[in-house]
Amino acid sequence: MAKQEDLFKKVISHAKEYGYIFASSEIYDGLSAVYDYGQNGAELKKNIKDYWWKSMVHLHQNIVGLDAAILMHPTTWKASGHVDAFNDPLIDNKDSKRRFRADVLVEEYAEKLNQKAEKEIAKARKRFGDSFDQEQFVNTNPRVQRYLEERTQVLERLAKSLTEENLQDVKALIEELEIADPETGSKNWTEVRQFNLMFGTKLGASSDSATDLYLRPETAQGIFVNFSNVQKSARMKIPFGIAQIGKAFRNEIVARQFIFRMREFEQMEMQFFVRPGDELRWYEHWKEKRMAWHKSLGLGDENYRFHDHEKLAHYANAATDIEFDYPFGFKELEGIHSRTDFDLKAHEEFSHKKLRFYDPELKENYVPYVIETSIGLDRMFLAVLSAALKEEELEDGSQRTVLKLPAVLAPVKAAVLPLVKKDGLPELAQDIVNDLKWDFHVQYDDKDAIGRRYRRQDAAGTPLCITVDHESLEDQTVTVRYRDSMEQKRVPIAELSSILTEETSFRKWIGEEF
Ligand code: ATP
Repeated sequence: MAKQEDLFKKVISHAKEYGYIFASSEIYDGLSAVYDYGQNGAELKKNIKDYWWKSMVHLHQNIVGLDAAILMHPTTWKASGHVDAFNDPLIDNKDSKRRFRADVLVEEYAEKLNQKAEKEIAKARKRFGDSFDQEQFVNTNPRVQRYLEERTQVLERLAKSLTEENLQDVKALIEELEIADPETGSKNWTEVRQFNLMFGTKLGASSDSATDLYLRPETAQGIFVNFSNVQKSARMKIPFGIAQIGKAFRNEIVARQFIFRMREFEQMEMQFFVRPGDELRWYEHWKEKRMAWHKSLGLGDENYRFHDHEKLAHYANAATDIEFDYPFGFKELEGIHSRTDFDLKAHEEFSHKKLRFYDPELKENYVPYVIETSIGLDRMFLAVLSAALKEEELEDGSQRTVLKLPAVLAPVKAAVLPLVKKDGLPELAQDIVNDLKWDFHVQYDDKDAIGRRYRRQDAAGTPLCITVDHESLEDQTVTVRYRDSMEQKRVPIAELSSILTEETSFRKWIGEEF
């Protein structure tokens, strides 16, 4: 799978073929940027949620869970700033009639400059070999300097015009940089306009008495409005966190990247409440902790990087993204934000209720500061799926497609396969399924030759196959085949449960030191 574009196409078609992801309401030609999760997708999604929930809530005595409603009092979104400011700048191409996010067009231009600089650096590294001093090269090579300086200037100007809501200047920038529609090459653009991303809906039956509501665009506000309920009922002391997994909705302007940018998606968020002044220490703590969480899954440390924000939201005093190397390049997977006391203070102001904590050590009441970790469940799903999908050449020259999912996340942990469909082998295989199913999601499969069944399970991501043969009837042993190494071992049936635990346990994957 040499080309990244091919890999992405392959991920999308594999996801459909193996029951991971379908277009929503596909029989009606689908709904743009909305997707359904199939039999394997539902399991993988659930396992990712469990991995996050257990590591955030169960492993931390000072973090508790919450499940707030999607519909919230409309004033919530005035207080949070979403009614006034949850906008993206959009621009249309008059010739192609395609719609774009104006900021993304400029950011992509800046990224190209970055890539040009990287190319020069890579060339020089090759030329100079071991004696190459990257820092010196970057600081002195005029071409690299020019690319990087232009990049900084472009991004700074974009940030300034967005902050000042100077949309004419965003358009002027697009024109000056001669940015064209990437598909058609047309530079015939409309003005830039702001577009609010919230989906509106109505509460109530009759149209005159109905209240305008929004589908929540983030789960965080459900946590903030419940701050006092949770703090008091759970008797939490600062520092403490509230974690939540749930749906969020955004009417995204451009949604062309499969489940990366959806209009209905899920977030896993944790808001951590700290003493004012302590926030940057906790921000560093959560940055490190969240990166460790990602790396624990073994999808390749080189696939992650931090991207610190140059333009901070008005309420944040530090922010970073954990980016993942998707088939279409490094993009945001998770955001970690130091949100100050902005949200709680705004809700105090709009609700006229106190959202404070009495700190017995300081003998003081204050509005806590907040560190947020916010990860898109669907983006995590896509990261896992695209890193796991491999095409391998085997020793005998044949090829296999294998989904090397971390076993702790795999939808089915083991497939139990009778070698033939007679002589009592199916019955013994069923007995094994009936015993293991209480603790693990296992599957019985007796269709096709054994080799084809192995390939099918490899492609579906099942980490272990358990094969029952005639010998099994005599000595109560079976063959266990490992998906990644294709190694086969003869083991007693009585040991299957502990083998599966060893391969798939949360404790083993996350690691005792987490
Ligand atoms: P982007 O810049 O990509 O639009 P964002 O900065 O607006 O994302 P946040 O508001 O920080 O995103 O949301 C937190 C997380 O929610 C993101 O890191 C991402 O994983 C996820 N997320 C946001 N928007 C979407 C979407 N449209 N589809 C899927 N996941 C999303």
